[in-house]
Amino acid sequence: MQSLIDSFGRRIDYLRVSVTDRCNYRCFYCIPPEGVAMAARADFLRYEELARLIGLFADLGVSKVRFTGGEPLVRRDMVALVRQVAALPGIDDLSLSTNAHLLERHASLLREAGVSRVNISLDTLNPVTFAKITGGGELAAVLRGIDAALTAGMRPVKLNMVVMKGVNEHEIETMLDFAVERGADLRFIETMPIGVAGEKGVSRYYPAAKMLSRVRRKYGEELIAVKGAKGAGPASYYQIGGGPVRVGVISAMSRHFCEGCNRVRLTAKGELVLCLGQEDTIPLGSGLRQGCSDAELTQVILDAIARKPERHEFGKEENIVRFRSMSAIGG
Ligand code: SAM
Repeated sequence: MQSLIDSFGRRIDYLRVSVTDRCNYRCFYCIPPEGVAMAARADFLRYEELARLIGLFADLGVSKVRFTGGEPLVRRDMVALVRQVAALPGIDDLSLSTNAHLLERHASLLREAGVSRVNISLDTLNPVTFAKITGGGELAAVLRGIDAALTAGMRPVKLNMVVMKGVNEHEIETMLDFAVERGADLRFIETMPIGVAGEKGVSRYYPAAKMLSRVRRKYGEELIAVKGAKGAGPASYYQIGGGPVRVGVISAMSRHFCEGCNRVRLTAKGELVLCLGQEDTIPLGSGLRQGCSDAELTQVILDAIARKPERHEFGKEENIVRFRSMSAIGG
């Protein structure tokens, strides 16, 4: 089998697929109040088209697929896509990133269709703050979604908290208690300078080192670093007191994880994005719609991977990603 190795020797085996750029939430650091330019619905690849592209990646050694958005669960019948992708030879790990607003009603079907693990955005446990951050989101629905994922047997359930100065930084300890009580993993994430967060969120930036020192202060000796945790990606992980719950801290601004980058992203229109922080995209979807054969599309993928950038440039002065919003690419 061919595999995808880029020019820095990194093996790409992980594809993140944004199934829509629409979202039912309006997190202030992700989507500006005036909204973002949306793709025309007709440009969204149909599930058969997405599955065909994902199948080509699978033939090239991609084994892990994460569905994201926008909010993936606002796209109708996501379960049908999951089933198609789960049936592709070589795909053995299907996961989902969601705000969980609609997860309660979908969790068990998604699990049956093949989604084994889920990442859920949860920036606060205060319903008022939650509504403020998300532009009217309903915390209770999200909490029910988290419970539904756990009940459906998705493991791990990872909670993602974007920690922001003056917004939710004071909730780090409460969130840890909540995660431990539910048996969910928890990841604290630095605000990335993308889109609206780039323009307005930088002043809210709360560094990963501070997050970690607060976790250490809370657990002391009980906190044990986990080396090479599966699916850890850019997070450093810690275990609490030998229990099952893991706490991760994601320092998006630091470049150290680019060396181990194993992923590329596909938008709902089928654009291949080689790096979250670099502009280069390859219009695979339009190639597909213009009638390219599998062999032709495979060659386009191979050529693209050969030029995957070495690293993002976040953290460099004035380096704000203005050419894309997080809501279109899905994190
Ligand atoms: N709607 C889904 C969700 O909530 O997970 C998937 C898409 S959402 C864009 C993916 C993740 O990106 C969320 O956890 C969100 O908090 C995070 N995110 C959005 N903008 C961000 C930023 N500027 N910095 C860090 N994380 C961000």
